[in-house]
Amino acid sequence: NKSSTISSVHENGSTRNHHSEGAIINLDHGDPTIYESYWKKLGEMSRVTFLGHQSLSYFSNKKNFCWFLEPKLEEEIKNIHNMVGNAIVEDRHIVVGTGSSQLIQAALYALSDHSLNEPNTISVVSASPYYSAYQEIADLLRSGLFKWAGDARSFDKDGPYIEMVTSPNNPDGIIRQGLVNRPNGVLIHDLAYYWPQYTAITSPADHDIMLFTLSKSTGHAGSRIGWALVRDKDVAKKMVKFMEINSIGVSKEAQIRAATILEIICGSCSQSVKPNIDLDNFFEYNKNLMAERWKRLRDVVKKNDIFYVTKYPIQYCNFTGDFTEAYPAFAWMKCKLEGVDCEKLFKEHKILTRSGRRFGCDPEYVRISMLSGDDDFDLFIQRLSTIIGSQSLND
Ligand code: PMP
Repeated sequence: NKSSTISSVHENGSTRNHHSEGAIINLDHGDPTIYESYWKKLGEMSRVTFLGHQSLSYFSNKKNFCWFLEPKLEEEIKNIHNMVGNAIVEDRHIVVGTGSSQLIQAALYALSDHSLNEPNTISVVSASPYYSAYQEIADLLRSGLFKWAGDARSFDKDGPYIEMVTSPNNPDGIIRQGLVNRPNGVLIHDLAYYWPQYTAITSPADHDIMLFTLSKSTGHAGSRIGWALVRDKDVAKKMVKFMEINSIGVSKEAQIRAATILEIICGSCSQSVKPNIDLDNFFEYNKNLMAERWKRLRDVVKKNDIFYVTKYPIQYCNFTGDFTEAYPAFAWMKCKLEGVDCEKLFKEHKILTRSGRRFGCDPEYVRISMLSGDDDFDLFIQRLSTIIGSQSLND
């Protein structure tokens, strides 16, 4: 890799990396560094500090069934859902996890058959295109409890199953519901992207198991905090049991930072806090960034007829009180030229994407992160226009 990077500080305070021509841009992961500009503007207001004597214990609240959940985080999780209106929190049991990735594992464990003699291996399915990590998570330990059974669209086995329902979906941003619809199935709703910067909040989600993550809501993927809202206490308790064996709880520092971040976001949306301090509404600010990026992407794609990018309906958002399009965290792009391996095509232009194959689809598709830092996104748009140009000349 001959690329070099020069850093400088932008006038809004964010660090910009100026890549040389040959730099590789990695848009494979959904690394949410787009959120850096918002948090940099806040500066000292978002500082969190700890003293050496704090948070030594494994325990956060021995009286709570989820004994490692920091009470302050529990409160802020409830506050943010109540304010945004994206999920019902009343009468739900909250389980915190090291990212929602750990909670996916905890939920699979909790929903499995634990009878000691010959447990029934439960099938795990999701409709393609599905989030590529589900298969990896389900099969990593070759568990006897659960096993990846592929695309929910072609699932025809009798017996119990778990369906992962991602809404809005990763990779294609579509709003989803369960697909298999059989009585012996249980659903895990992964709502990582059900936030107003990505999509209209049309009603509070009200499902048995709902997963959320700080990574995609506030941009703090590095803190590794996710949470589950669980209706059934026994299921929630089994998830806690998994967490106990897997990691004996979740970092207190990360939870306290997460609580502070969520509290700031709630404050940024509240009229009573805003007049005193210069605090942009978090969701409005970041939705504008997403909208601008999507416009730039659609403009460059429109100029030529080589790529197809998913279109989204306009919907009324209860949170913003406006009709809005969706601005998903990923662009799900299809190359219209027959037989083209889209991941390879982008790689030739030094753009790393994730192939449709990883999501149970054809290689004409790729998933591209829309959450990168500004410089990577600028370079991506610039290179995309040259791909389009060179491909049309070859036609
Ligand atoms: N679910 C979905 C749908 C995701 O896209 C992601 C992150 N890519 C996760 C779960 C995991 O997020 P984390 O472990 O960072 O909380």
